[in-house]
Amino acid sequence: MPDPGALTPLLEQYEGVKARYPGHLVLFRVGDFYETFGEDARLLARELDVVLTARSADAQGVRTPMAGVPHHAVETYLGRLVQKGYKVALCDQVEDARFAKGLVRREVTRVVTPGTVVEDRILGGPEHNFLASIVVPAEGTGAYAAVDITTGEWYHGLADGPGHEGLLSSLAAFHPREVLWSAAGKGGVAPIVPALRREYPSVRLEPAPEPISEAELPAGLRSESGVAAGVAEADRRLAAYLRATQPRLLPYLAVVDRAAGGRRLILDAKTLRHLEINRPMNPDDPKGVTLLGTWDETVSAPGRRTLAFWLTNPLADVAAIAARQDAVQALVERGAVLADWRARLRSVPDLGRIASRVAGRRVRPAELGSLRSGLETAQALGDELRADGEPARLATLAGALRAPNGLVEFLAAALPESSVDASGPDGLFRPGHAPDVDRWRDAERDAVAEMAALERTEQEASGIRTLKVGYNQVFGYYFEVTKPHLARVPPHFRRRQTVAQAERFTSDRLEEIEHRILESREGIRTAEAARWEELLNEVDRHVPAVHRVSRAVGELDALVTFAHLAQSRGYVRPTVDDSSALVVRDGRHPVLDRLLGEAFVPNDTDLEPDGRRMLVLTGPNMSGKSTYMRQVGLLVVLAQAGSFVPAKFARIGLVTQLFTRMGFTDEIGRGKSSFMVEMSEVAEILRAADDRSLILLDEVGRGTSTFDGLAIAWATLRHIHDATRARSLLATHYHQLTDLVRSLAAAENAHFAVREGPDGIVFLHRLVPGATDRSYGVHVARLAGLPEGLLAEAERLLKRLESESVVPATSKGAGRRTPRFTQAVLLSGSADEHPVVDELRRLDPDRLTGEEASRTLRELKRRATPPAGPAEDER
Ligand code: ADP
Ligand code: MG
Repeated sequence: MPDPGALTPLLEQYEGVKARYPGHLVLFRVGDFYETFGEDARLLARELDVVLTARSADAQGVRTPMAGVPHHAVETYLGRLVQKGYKVALCDQVEDARFAKGLVRREVTRVVTPGTVVEDRILGGPEHNFLASIVVPAEGTGAYAAVDITTGEWYHGLADGPGHEGLLSSLAAFHPREVLWSAAGKGGVAPIVPALRREYPSVRLEPAPEPISEAELPAGLRSESGVAAGVAEADRRLAAYLRATQPRLLPYLAVVDRAAGGRRLILDAKTLRHLEINRPMNPDDPKGVTLLGTWDETVSAPGRRTLAFWLTNPLADVAAIAARQDAVQALVERGAVLADWRARLRSVPDLGRIASRVAGRRVRPAELGSLRSGLETAQALGDELRADGEPARLATLAGALRAPNGLVEFLAAALPESSVDASGPDGLFRPGHAPDVDRWRDAERDAVAEMAALERTEQEASGIRTLKVGYNQVFGYYFEVTKPHLARVPPHFRRRQTVAQAERFTSDRLEEIEHRILESREGIRTAEAARWEELLNEVDRHVPAVHRVSRAVGELDALVTFAHLAQSRGYVRPTVDDSSALVVRDGRHPVLDRLLGEAFVPNDTDLEPDGRRMLVLTGPNMSGKSTYMRQVGLLVVLAQAGSFVPAKFARIGLVTQLFTRMGFTDEIGRGKSSFMVEMSEVAEILRAADDRSLILLDEVGRGTSTFDGLAIAWATLRHIHDATRARSLLATHYHQLTDLVRSLAAAENAHFAVREGPDGIVFLHRLVPGATDRSYGVHVARLAGLPEGLLAEAERLLKRLESESVVPATSKGAGRRTPRFTQAVLLSGSADEHPVVDELRRLDPDRLTGEEASRTLRELKRRATPPAGPAEDER
């Protein structure tokens, strides 16, 4: 803590740094703390929940807010700051405070941004950490590049579709922590920025820097040929940002194919969310269970990343999917050995991240030891994988698991048996690896031994048995003699310090040995630092290779996990082909099935090539419509990710785009009406979808009044059926649609069976063909706990509505009620009839004379007209 008088110059120094690092939160090292001042102090106190203090900076007593964090815990706090999307500059003391003349010199030694960290303690978990750059087009299709520098993976491409939606969709699976945007045309904030902010509330957004030139791109990023101009721009801007923030890592980054050599099943942002593939729909729900959460029995950090990546980037290429499935199947057939492999994979550390920390020079010595053993384990697994007749994917994987040439041997020769983080007595290196370090260590050991010998010699010579050699930071080595023995202190001792019970001395000999100890320690330090840097330089060469091994470990773990799940949960291999079939026997919802167990009711799906491609689901709330639609979507995702699926049988004709809209409630409350939102989402889908798409629409036309919604729902359905020709499942509460569905050649109605019992209804969750006309709304409301009185009223009203509806005598649907006049009845207000209605009912017009009839009519009209009502017709 600075004393108040010193605050003013300190603040000036701080302001100077702030000025050089605009947009950064500057953490300013003062003694044992990193401090912030002024507005930043308020911000830090708020975001990190640390104490806000204030100190007088000048004689006038103006108080400056201050907040700080202890330096030893700074990584934890950095983690929390970057999670919240801050860019932090660490400003350190770059000279020893003891020798500083005036103010200690301080410099920014590190800039930390959400997308450029490599430290596990800041990152928090093994998940991918993406930094993205997007090129937003004035019109047409944009481009993106996304990098995880912690694993060296670089992905890029044109957006999935035109405009902002296309870009947001391409980014969705990456869930970037930091996005650099550049807008085509004139400057200013790109209009996509608010959409990004909504999509990723804690993302850090920044205008992208000017691109570096093509020639400055590292080899792994230099576009071979034919990369679109927008993509090259996104690459070069991203590289420019990294050159400024993580220059050491840039050379080792390399492009990875997002689609594993084929095409990718495009899942837009809303589909990812609605299917809850890797994040619960409600991010604040801690119990929200996702597909990833249910599938994640991976045992290694790279495995977890790979699984998450596969589930959010399923494939759309029959050969690539079959390659994964063949590998999974071969692993299933290996049987019992899987458990052993999983145990060994579990011991493999996060190789990719260690490599990135080597390159970024933030690696701890012990991590190099585990890098070595992890590479050995990976290679051994690869050797066992390489067996006769293995599927191609596993053979390739076996090769990819091979440790980089000579790296294991090099590390084994350089590092001690068990590396420790603090350089203990054994030091950083195995003896013999660094002769200069060894020499200094010997010298230190000799000098320390001589010091001990000197202590004994002086004890004996003086006869002071309690004479001790001690050491402290300020005075260095000294003899200490307690007060009672001071008389016997020899004349060659020189007094240095007086403490409570003793005096401290030095001597020529002591100073000479002390000098040798300090000199050899300094020697060790510099020699070790130089050799350490040499060692890291050597490992640097292998960084891209270690990244590759790490990805292979991830892939093996993900495949082994698929095999393990297939084995332990009885999943089957789906047939994935180029047809437009979607046939499932006894399919289960992958997540609910795990939660409900036996209670989950399996269902079939029957969309046939050249036959039915559209299914319209009606029926009461809570009967299982949404669950079923999600189930079908998730089974497609799993199958195309290469996993086996929870079903007895599945045949899935390749889906290239999956659109899911559930509930249409996303943007309500953001100023758009729900109908408007729904219509723009439907429009989006209809624009992009084609006959290889799968469309899941829940509650079409819900956001508006009955007839608008019905009309639009019908037209939408018709368009998907006739023009788009996509496979689709739609749920609707418009029973009127079911008649119309019957007129469409490739569409069919279905609903979920319900049993009506004495105590109400039971949902059977079993899909049955045909439409249903009952919505059981009142029953559902009772289940939901609405008051009995209210329910009785609702039942009365419902009976009336039903009795006033026409009952068409069609051949197909005898007894089906089509509600008419619904609104008129509802708007009449009271549930009780007006008494004149009853009179009218009892009236027999045939038995009235003309005069009687006209008098009765006048009388009834008088009584039906409210007394205070308008009297314009009274004559
Ligand atoms: P809807 O969309 O028709 O209103 P949901 O799909 O939301 O109905 O399902 C309501 C509840 O019914 C779910 O939360 C789940 O608990 C249960 N459910 C749905 N489908 C099944 C099923 N196949 N087996 C067992 N329970 C189911
Ligand atoms: Mg529903």
